[in-house]
Amino acid sequence: MQKNEQISALILAGGRGSRMGHVDKGLQPFRGLTMVEHVLQRLTPQVAAVAINANQNLDIYERFGVPVLPDVTPDFAGPLAGMEAGLRQCTTNYLLSAPCDSPFLPQDLAARLLEALQAEDADVAIAVTMEGSRRQPHPVFCLLKTSLAPVLSAYLAEGGRRMDGWYGGLKVVEVLFEDVDAFRNINTRDELQSLDEQRPPRLRDVVSCLSSYDPDALPVRDAQKIIGQFVTPIAAIEKVALRASLDRVLAQDIVSPINVPAYDNSAMDGYALRGADLRADGPTTLNVIATVFAGRPSEAVPAAGECVRIMTGGVMPSGCDSVIPQEHVAALSDTSITIDAGVIRTGDNRRFAGEDLKAGSAALKKGKRIRPADLGLLASLGFAEVPVQRRLRVAFFSTGDELRSIGESLDAGCVYDSNRYTLYGMLSRLGCDIIDMGIVRDDPAALEEALRTACENADAIVTSGGVSVGAADYTREIMARLGDVTFWKIGMRPGRPLAFGKIESRGHSAYLFGLPGNPVAVMVSFYFFARNALLAMMGADAALPLLKVRSTGSIRKKTGRTEYQRGVLAVGADGMQEVAITGSQGSGILRSMSEANCMVMLHDEQGNVAAGDMVDVLLFEGLV
Ligand code: AMP
Ligand code: MG
Repeated sequence: MQKNEQISALILAGGRGSRMGHVDKGLQPFRGLTMVEHVLQRLTPQVAAVAINANQNLDIYERFGVPVLPDVTPDFAGPLAGMEAGLRQCTTNYLLSAPCDSPFLPQDLAARLLEALQAEDADVAIAVTMEGSRRQPHPVFCLLKTSLAPVLSAYLAEGGRRMDGWYGGLKVVEVLFEDVDAFRNINTRDELQSLDEQRPPRLRDVVSCLSSYDPDALPVRDAQKIIGQFVTPIAAIEKVALRASLDRVLAQDIVSPINVPAYDNSAMDGYALRGADLRADGPTTLNVIATVFAGRPSEAVPAAGECVRIMTGGVMPSGCDSVIPQEHVAALSDTSITIDAGVIRTGDNRRFAGEDLKAGSAALKKGKRIRPADLGLLASLGFAEVPVQRRLRVAFFSTGDELRSIGESLDAGCVYDSNRYTLYGMLSRLGCDIIDMGIVRDDPAALEEALRTACENADAIVTSGGVSVGAADYTREIMARLGDVTFWKIGMRPGRPLAFGKIESRGHSAYLFGLPGNPVAVMVSFYFFARNALLAMMGADAALPLLKVRSTGSIRKKTGRTEYQRGVLAVGADGMQEVAITGSQGSGILRSMSEANCMVMLHDEQGNVAAGDMVDVLLFEGLV
């Protein structure tokens, strides 16, 4: 999706929430998030910046990390007052508004409204849908020129409140959207609950958000988007001892209960002094009246012309504001020191209370995977226990009559099952609790039983093999029969066939990732589809940085599909990073995956790569 740099978006959450029973609508929970977060997630990729218009619970809205703008016109004057507040703060040419109770809003809302507005040279663009043969305008889903602020303010000042009343004298263009449901807003708690509980999202609802959808030629990014929207995080939280929280996903924001450091202290071994005593025109001599060790504060209060010997971490004596490191003292005896002019400035080498963290500030954000630095930070705040997400349980098995387990004899036409080992490695490194279900024969009853058992014991199931067209058809048939599963041919290499969805058995459900069988394809599909989804289920942030580096050689590449080539990243003769693809890129050649240290990602639009061109690279180290 194209981010539109000319547009800022405003989420209208400033109402009284009367129909919701006087609760704040934007903050109502819906499918694991608040309503306003759904709208935020939908708008963020479309525009340069998002803000929220709210008139109550401002502190809670502020936690979503975007500006919160209360009305400037008083007394809950309705959505127009929110738009007025948004227009006044808007720094881009256009403002897009959307209500906080529209979690399904179209992902091309900004792009399509702008296109129409510019094509017609209009002032305002409004979304409309067809309800039967009637046009239904949605004036809260609108794009306006920011320069209209005075027009709207004048209308409000005259007492005007009608959403569709203020733009009478302006040029308005209506943009027809096909998907009526995308504009469905949720007005009552009953509606919210029925949507939330009785109708978990179906794949077809999620798929309907895409402007074009062809399961037999699905771009990688669309498949990733569908998967991302379909999976939901597990809700269970557990408290674990600090050390045990390493690599786990933080389940709540950690707010610092104290200032760190708790007191002003010295950053050096030296002498604490009063900056006002330092002479600019010659050496300063000060009398040493006491010594402060770390952990042993002193009551001494130096007067003018006095200083205190201090160790790193020692509490700054009152009145002192600077520390001269002992190696910079020009001359010293047991009772006095001399400092040359200009060696230090007032304030040097003093650490302030709360400089690392202020009491009440967010030290760590929910969703973070806890790293060694975080363990240290939590320890510095005195936390013995940490709230983390329960581990995700993932069951996995391999399918195929030709597969043999290690230790068995390799009969004619058979191969050892390697996928179960690569999957074991990738899932373990992701921090999942794993259930290795072995090899399942190409047999309908065995396959159904394995899927049911997996479903009853795990949050997610990862299988390999049996989803391509040539494979025994019943794999697909059984997967589909057990739940809401789709089968895709993805525009990628290696990879292509992928089954994804959710299956149910005896009251339990689990997400299903049916990966292809080829050993390289299984890894690539895991990394680029399953990995992010599993992390999202764990409630974790999943973004991975892509590096842009020079390709040493030319690479043949067809446009219209994503290719993942195994690469070796190294430092070139000129000291810059460069990547060479490993020899054979066949999807069964696991050796080249093992030799590689990165993946070269060649995107859909990209064609042949010439030697020296820059390409995107994803490093294996740190991936899982
Ligand atoms: P399939 O997707 O079942 O048609 O399998 C595609 C190819 O991957 C076949 O050559 C299989 O033998 C191979 N394959 C499938 N599963 C595994 C596995 N677990 N370990 C190694 N190779 C496999
Ligand atoms: Mg097979």
